[in-house]
Amino acid sequence: MAAAHGESPGRARRALVVGGGAAGLAAARGLWPSFSGVAFPEYFEFTPGVLRAYADPARWEALTFLYHEVLERHLGVRWIWGEVTAIDGDECCAHVLAAFSRESETIPRGADSGRVTERCYIHQACPLGESYRVIAASAGGMSTNSPADLRKLMSLPFSLPPIPYDFCVLAGGCHSNAAAGGSPWSPAVHARVRDAEQSGLDERYLEGRRRRVVEEHQHLASLQQRRGSVLIVGAGYTGVEFACELQHHLPGLCITVADSMERCLEPLPEQAASYCEGYMRRVGIRTVYGHDLRYDPKDRAFWTRVGLPEGADRTYVLSGVRSSAYFMPKETLSDRGPGGGGWILTNRSLQVVTRKGVRWGRGVVFAAGDCAASSAAATGSG
Ligand SMILES: Cc1cc2nc3c(=O)[nH]c(=O)nc-3n(C[C@H](O)[C@H](O)[C@H](O)COP(=O)(O)OP(=O)(O)OC[C@H]3O[C@@H](n4cnc5c(N)ncnc54)[C@H](O)[C@@H]3O)c2cc1C
Repeated sequence: MAAAHGESPGRARRALVVGGGAAGLAAARGLWPSFSGVAFPEYFEFTPGVLRAYADPARWEALTFLYHEVLERHLGVRWIWGEVTAIDGDECCAHVLAAFSRESETIPRGADSGRVTERCYIHQACPLGESYRVIAASAGGMSTNSPADLRKLMSLPFSLPPIPYDFCVLAGGCHSNAAAGGSPWSPAVHARVRDAEQSGLDERYLEGRRRRVVEEHQHLASLQQRRGSVLIVGAGYTGVEFACELQHHLPGLCITVADSMERCLEPLPEQAASYCEGYMRRVGIRTVYGHDLRYDPKDRAFWTRVGLPEGADRTYVLSGVRSSAYFMPKETLSDRGPGGGGWILTNRSLQVVTRKGVRWGRGVVFAAGDCAASSAAATGSG
């Protein structure tokens, strides 16, 4: 591989990993020890297990850990807690909205670099209602574990200088297609989604996410006592899984699964679908399929069609995904694919490329995991 941009002989290469999900952690393990990771929220959550946690919240503890504990304490790498808002492919740096910031600020390289990071570095602060449980915070030599000092810290501008890299791995995954709060699997963490979030819980924090899971569970548990109804929109593997978990742990619920396909698990083999369909029928989960089914909560005809003329007590939308790669320039994103496109285009070496197939960002930016799409497949050129 050619020397990376701005590399001086003898200096350790700086790798930056964006996102701390399955792909980000795998990349981190391969790059260790010379990488920085930008990740948010403050915790890892094992996505394949999260739907069971709503039915049985005791499971949730085993699905999560704090990045601070694992990345900094165990791996000894630098973890930056924030949301990447832009990658500058020419300058080889990432712009980051630090946790607590209202807007990202770009500080030119030079004398000021590092100043703000040092002053505003906060390890963990978990909101508990109105107060804050501060585990560790530091700013310009001030160290605190008192809520009053934390509030003082929070009044400082929380912005980071651009984070330079020699190599960058984008692993930001994807998120649910549902409106904010509508899907149980993806926490509302991006700044633009949080603004629309109604629940008041801040799921960027472990405590906020725990409360969302527990509150949802309590709501479902009280629903089952009065034999309440739940509608799950989408009979893909997540919809089917959620329906079966809820029915198993909360058998008093009346569960309906609806999909505009002709069967469940449409992209999977027919044998898998008939096995799951048989299981759902046996345990009393109703299923409704058909191309005429378009989820529209305001349309009475929809509710009649799914056999719930009075509506459902709780609805979950588990159909479709959307790209999270809004921080990348349009020329590097597919114009088609699930959720209308927006997937990061890569070549066979996983280097980010433009829609014309040209390597982008000096060839040192890679994408892996759910955020990426093969350029040949996405453009239909191969
Ligand atoms: C309910 C459910 C069940 C599943 N079951 C299975 C299964 O049984 N087997 C299987 O193989 N797969 C399963 N999957 C799929 C699997 O979970 C995903 O393929 C996998 O998690 C993708 O990993 P990732 O690292 O690409 O993305 P993610 O796990 O989504 O991680 C991306 C991370 O990047 C962060 N991020 C996003 N944007 C930014 C940004 N701008 N700045 C900083 N950080 C950012 C996100 O907050 C997130 O933490 C399941 C998925 C779901 C939803």
